[in-house]
Amino acid sequence: MTDAPAKHLPRPTPETEVYWEGCRKHELLLQRCTKCREFQFYPRITCTNCTSENLEWVKASGRGQVLTFAVVRRAVSQAYDADVPYVVALIKLDEGPTMMSNVVQCDPEALHIGDLVQVLFEDWSEDVSIPQFRPV
Ligand SMILES: [Zn+2]
Repeated sequence: MTDAPAKHLPRPTPETEVYWEGCRKHELLLQRCTKCREFQFYPRITCTNCTSENLEWVKASGRGQVLTFAVVRRAVSQAYDADVPYVVALIKLDEGPTMMSNVVQCDPEALHIGDLVQVLFEDWSEDVSIPQFRPV
């Protein structure tokens, strides 16, 4: 038996540092423009709707809906061998933005487009927690 390689961990940037710190605390944070009030994901330095640089961080509900998904049956590396089969999905958050994530704690064969989901966090290291979703 060999040691499996580690999973790829995100590297926070100045734009994403607050987002990843929220994840570490198991809080899903989204940027909201203080001018046009639109939410956006992923984090950026300006609003994608009106180009304002006045963005605030808001704790999201963590609720959303499966827009589409794929079931991964062959791991991309040995680090993910124990996870297959797993679901990679686009989640339409209740606040509006769409994010790519995993849907866990479910039978991939029983998942459907339109299913309602709730965020949860999986601690991949002491410093990194990954937002994932489970059906509700
Ligand atoms: Zn805006």
